[in-house]
Amino acid sequence: IIHLEDIRKSYFIGKNALPVLKGIRIDIMLNEYVALMGPSGSGKSTLMNILGCLDSPTSGTYVLNGHDVSKMEDNDLAEVRNKEIGFVFQQFNLMPRLSALENVAVPLIYAGISKKTREERAMSMLEKVGLGDRYHHKPNELSGGQCQRVAIARALINDPALILADEPTGNLDTKTSVEIMEIFGQIHASGNTVVLVTHEEDIADHARRIVRLRDGVIESDHINEKQLVDS
Ligand code: ATP
Ligand code: MG
Repeated sequence: IIHLEDIRKSYFIGKNALPVLKGIRIDIMLNEYVALMGPSGSGKSTLMNILGCLDSPTSGTYVLNGHDVSKMEDNDLAEVRNKEIGFVFQQFNLMPRLSALENVAVPLIYAGISKKTREERAMSMLEKVGLGDRYHHKPNELSGGQCQRVAIARALINDPALILADEPTGNLDTKTSVEIMEIFGQIHASGNTVVLVTHEEDIADHARRIVRLRDGVIESDHINEKQLVDS
């Protein structure tokens, strides 16, 4: 589903170029479950933003689900992002004035779906993540774990094949993190491809494959032996 070839990314600060990704090559197949690890500043979020079509590489090729997205214009990119990708952030990124239900339904507005259908679909998605009874609550009336469930429901609402999550448990306590990881396990089991960033080995152990970045290059890429024995 993902094919990256010699992906490079530099940030420009005035005249100075800061190279962050220095030639990333990776293939991720449909229904893989990958944890992306590496020290702070190694380029994990930069890579996730490129995978999520939120940012473009400086050079290199990115083929997502058969589309060469590295050569796309912003409009087409936005469409691919909406259809093919669900993104979950560490800070949830919910709209504070909207209810849980309205937040989950937001991506459907762009798809031109009627309000009634939007609300029905958002409701069934909230039920899937165990929040059916909290649909009318605003983000500030929900716990961190509940907010992340809302964000996950929103990421799933367009039924994207690929779910990307950048430190989805970074703001959560251990018990809540385990609950959120169970949801990612279910998402993977139901056929989605999952790529998530984490600092914690315990969290990464939920994945089938562990990729480590260091200084903008892939340092290692291997099957998670723990999952091999457990499954
Ligand atoms: P962390 O584990 O702390 O989240 P990370 O691996 O996600 O780190 P990135 O956020 O990808 O790291 O950042 C990699 C490098 O790129 C860092 O040196 C960072 O300062 C720099 N960087 C990231 N975003 C920008 C930006 N928008 N403009 C300039 N530099 C940036
Ligand atoms: Mg990061």
